[in-house]
Amino acid sequence: MFLRRFILVTYMSNKDTSFSYTDELQEAVECLRAAPEKLIELPSKYPHRGLGESAALRLLAPHILGDAAKLDSERALAHMDPPTPWITWATTLWNARLNQNLLHEATAPFAMKAEERVLEWLLPFFGMSGGHMCSGSTLANLTALWAARDSRQVRRIVASEAAHLSIAKAARMLSLPLEQIPTTRYGNIDISQIGSLSDACLVLTAGTTSTGEIDAFDLIGQAQWTHVDAAWGGPLRLTTSHAAKLSGIEKADSVAVSAHKLLFQPKEAALVMFANPSLANEAISFGGGYLASPNIGIQGSRGAAGVNLLATLIAFGQYGLAQRIDRVMEISQKLADGLEAESSIELLAPPKTGVTVFRIPNLDMQKFHKTLPVGMLSLCVIENEYWLRSVAANPLADEQSILKAIRQANRD
Ligand SMILES: *Cc1c(COP(=O)(O)O)cnc(C)c1O
Repeated sequence: MFLRRFILVTYMSNKDTSFSYTDELQEAVECLRAAPEKLIELPSKYPHRGLGESAALRLLAPHILGDAAKLDSERALAHMDPPTPWITWATTLWNARLNQNLLHEATAPFAMKAEERVLEWLLPFFGMSGGHMCSGSTLANLTALWAARDSRQVRRIVASEAAHLSIAKAARMLSLPLEQIPTTRYGNIDISQIGSLSDACLVLTAGTTSTGEIDAFDLIGQAQWTHVDAAWGGPLRLTTSHAAKLSGIEKADSVAVSAHKLLFQPKEAALVMFANPSLANEAISFGGGYLASPNIGIQGSRGAAGVNLLATLIAFGQYGLAQRIDRVMEISQKLADGLEAESSIELLAPPKTGVTVFRIPNLDMQKFHKTLPVGMLSLCVIENEYWLRSVAANPLADEQSILKAIRQANRD
């Protein structure tokens, strides 16, 4: 009995093909073209004996691939989540196969180089000198505010009421008081309401979540530390037509950008960048005995998101990436123009960073929203009233088709 068990275990460990390349993997890729449609209920209990990979994939494909918002559909314009270029599907697969860890140089020689190269290429657009990738701008913002607190001894955080909720989270975690400055009706920080900033970290937003507004960057330099949350709007810096909207960002102390938004990356990818990386890194680095180099930032183990981004930057080039960003900005502008032409529709403001906000006065926007195709538009609240919001993250969206659906719903 004992012997048999022993033999079974060694047999498994030597011949376990679950960790090696197999042609069955092609099936998974093929599912991206056309997923099996037959939906079989998931097992309600954790199976004792596994189904095996192929059967598991066939069972899961209709669920995973079928039960998902299609972010590349011509009417998808509701959220900040872009479709991803297929080159990142390929590199994501490679990354999963290798499972490199950016925490250890030894496990991730090229992955580290890839991240360094990506930063080298992108930092100049923001006037920053160093930084690292992390899994989202929630963490990028927290990392930057942590650096601000411990390297410049800021005592409080000042941000507008339209700042992303990650700023309030960071303030709470860092035990720093948060002063929330009222905004204008459009959602930018109301400069007239700002007091002394001498002991503060000022957070300015480039592309607010609700309305896509950009705070006044001429405030940069007045606080102990200025952080720009450019999670959404940051990539506009890579274009020629929209870069100037963020001019002044290069004077900030730190900048956060979500690559899984306007850089079209799969989650989880963001950049936190510093004007003075040696000062910042000193505040946010920990060296453990088993680490060859200090662990910089919040995350310990983290994946090779830089590989995906590098692949995209090389495949598209700066010109190709800028074209896609320009394209989504154009979609939002044309959408805004089309909406403005409708007498019954009130546009909040011309879109600055691809976010178009409007409403139909005298109509319940919550109800109206329900009549539109799912994933086309989202709701937002401005001065206690519901408005509709579209976010141009999808270069394949068709603004005419979206306008048609809005007009149709408005008529019905
Ligand atoms: C999306 C967003 C964040 C949070 O970024 P995640 O990548 O979702 O963690 C922070 N600030 C702004 C302005 C955002 O748009």
